[in-house]
Order: sequence, then C-alpha cells, then structure tokens
Amino acid sequence: MPVRFTILGSGSRGNCAYLETETTRLLIDAGFSARQIQQRLAQLGRTLERLDGILITHEHSDHVRALDVLSRKIQVPVYCNRLTYDAILYQQPRCRLPFHLFETGASFTVGDVEVESFSVPHDAQDPVGFLLRTAGGNVGFLTDLGHVTRLVRERVRPAHALVLEANHDLQLLQEDPKRPWSVKQRILSRHGHLSNEAAAEALSEVMSETLRHLFLGHLSQDCNRPELAHACVARQLETLGATHVTLEVASQGAPCRTLLLGNGHLPPSPEPL
Ligand SMILES: [Zn+2]
Ligand SMILES: [Zn+2]
Repeated sequence: MPVRFTILGSGSRGNCAYLETETTRLLIDAGFSARQIQQRLAQLGRTLERLDGILITHEHSDHVRALDVLSRKIQVPVYCNRLTYDAILYQQPRCRLPFHLFETGASFTVGDVEVESFSVPHDAQDPVGFLLRTAGGNVGFLTDLGHVTRLVRERVRPAHALVLEANHDLQLLQEDPKRPWSVKQRILSRHGHLSNEAAAEALSEVMSETLRHLFLGHLSQDCNRPELAHACVARQLETLGATHVTLEVASQGAPCRTLLLGNGHLPPSPEPL
C-alpha cells in the first residue's frame, strides 16, 4: 500500500498536512479551525477520529489554532517540544489533548513513521522542521524559517518530497501598505520567513538526487502570488538541471493533490483528488 501525503492547506493564515501509511495517520500542524480540518479530511474520505497523532512545528497560531477545539472532539496524542508545549498551553489553557514531548533534534516513532526533528531559525520559542521517514519514502517540512542553516540542509537532504516555504515576494513585501516597517524587518530577518528568492537559493543547497516532489508553502496572502513563487523556483530548478523534480504551489483555500509515495516504484506519481 502506498504512503499518501496531502497538504490540506498552507499559507500565512493556516497550515496543516496529512500523512497516511499502512498503519499510521498523522497531521503535521493544525493551523486551521477544527471544523476546517475535519472538512478537508472528509474531502479525502478521512476522519479526525482515525488520527494517530499530530506533530507540531511551533506555537504560532497558523500552526496550532485547532488544538483547543480538537481536544473537545477527540483524544489524539500531540507531539511537540517542551517550550512549544508551554507556549500552546499559555495560549489555549483549556486544551486537554495528551501531549508527548520530544527533545529538539531527537528522533521518535509514531506507528510505522520515524519522525526526525531539527531546529530551524524562526521567531518562536523552539521551532522545528521535520523529516518523516516512511516505507514509501521521506517527507520533509521546511516552513517558517529565516534562513537555511547547515543543520537544516543536512537533515532534509534525504527527502523524496519536500514542503518548502516561499513566504513573500521581496518587492510586494516592501511595497505592502498594511505592514509597518518593524513587521517587514521581522519577516525579512534571519529568524523570519523565506522569500521566493531565498527559497530558490535554499533549493540549490538542499537539492539531491533523492528529491522528486517540491511543494511551495506558507505563501503570504498579501505579499506573494502563486505564479511569482512558482516562476522564481521553476527558474532555479531549471538552472540546477533538476528536471526530475515536480513543482506545485500549495494553497491556503484547498488541499493539494494527494501524492502517492513508493507505490512499488520511485518516482511516485500525483493522484487527482
Ligand atoms: Zn507559520
Ligand atoms: Zn511561525
């Protein structure tokens, strides 16, 4: 049975992805309302009740919004580090989900998925990226980071599928009338978010023979356009000669196509919803 991977939605207003192996069903972040997550899982024919775990990268609301309400519907283990846990409970003191704490940098298993966590530079308490190793292939998560460190590069290199942040277009951010200068500085800082240009540059550092599927995620609603992000990164893929990599831009409003990983052969192929 192939491993199925679906980004349920990604953008600066909410992030949530779904991974399903033969025995294990996981959410990666829960940054929509519980109802939205339920509806988007239903589009895949899946339910909240069947989840085996929720992995959390960091405590910003676009990654954890659903947890409080989810705790009144289901009892599913949430995996995060100690500082993230403290920050979540500070925001959502009535959240009653069972938390399982890991040390940043540690690996642990949930069912048949091996989860590797690693530190990323971002303005949260103790933000992490993940590499999920499954029988069908490896999925990397690299959103919410100001720059790509050597550690990040090394940890995501085994990924067959990678979710990479392309948060903003530099010019649109600079021209944005809604954001004060201080917020723009924070976004642009080394603990902020990757621009389209920075994502393209990061790609040259994380590119490998293994990588087959690249999803651009966490696009800013106001300061980016899917076509700008796509064009910028597609140019870089061409420059790198990475013709073996498919490129898709994840959207805030609807799930991506489900990716089937390791259906007896690599490269895996996308499946229409
Ligand atoms: Zn975020
Ligand atoms: Zn964040």
